[in-house]
Amino acid sequence: MFLKGKTALVTGSTSGIGLACAKALAAQGAAVMINGFGEAAAIEAERAALAAASGAGALHSPADMTRPDEIAAMVESCAAELGPVDILVNNAGIQHVAPVEDFPPTKWDQIIAINLSSAFHAIHAALPGMKAKGWGRIVNTASAHSLVASPFKSAYVAAKHGIAGLTKTVALEAASHGVTVNCISPGYVWTSLIEAQIPDTMKARGLTREQVVNDVLLASQPTKQFVTVDQVAALLIHLCRDESASITGANLSMDGGWTAM
Ligand code: NAD
Repeated sequence: MFLKGKTALVTGSTSGIGLACAKALAAQGAAVMINGFGEAAAIEAERAALAAASGAGALHSPADMTRPDEIAAMVESCAAELGPVDILVNNAGIQHVAPVEDFPPTKWDQIIAINLSSAFHAIHAALPGMKAKGWGRIVNTASAHSLVASPFKSAYVAAKHGIAGLTKTVALEAASHGVTVNCISPGYVWTSLIEAQIPDTMKARGLTREQVVNDVLLASQPTKQFVTVDQVAALLIHLCRDESASITGANLSMDGGWTAM
């Protein structure tokens, strides 16, 4: 339980990668604020399980990551109720798959807001507290799409390339303050985000469900395996260790070899 006494905030953590990260942080004794949408009873069950696992408290913030004011209020209420944010995981993200000429402008704005700008707003609010303490960890969930593109994902690829640049910039600014800033770039991880894009990809490319899974998704990954949420969470935990103090500004691929091709 090496994170006893630390407070973690994980955006977009009511499911998928974010929830696995919250569980891994709580298992190491961190107080955890989760965030995201979903069914109230299911969120409360997850929150209670996190509180029991960490022994240090767990709260849910319903802040909408498209709203800078709500993001600032979330960071403030985390500090007031659990403690100043020591570990910030910017993870909230959505996807939309369509050719650029058919891509709804409102979807573009929403994806840039949730997948990119929310990380800026959360860092903006949380970094001063980390600098004041002389210790902090910021881990942004990027993607293989922070390094390479795929067709029909213009907003997502643009946002994830942006996250990679934001990561490097803030890493330089925080480097002498005991705060590391990195991004993790998974390949395809089996979560609701992937499940939800299969029908649109079938439509955009004229393929069956099996063809999308095997010929589009797993075709990118030489391991022919989906990355797991627990693998991503384990790398986050490694980055939180004092032994990782020199890992900063890095874009850490976990993509089954995708971007080695
Ligand atoms: P997911 O759909 O399981 O989780 C997304 C989370 O974000 C949920 O908790 C959801 O409630 C929350 N969310 C969505 N819109 C929000 C908003 N406006 N405000 C607050 N919370 C909001 O998906 P996931 O696959 O776990 O995705 C998590 C992150 O991982 C995303 O940034 C995604 O881009 C990234 N990622 C996923 C994969 C993959 O293959 N699944 C690969 C690489 C990167």
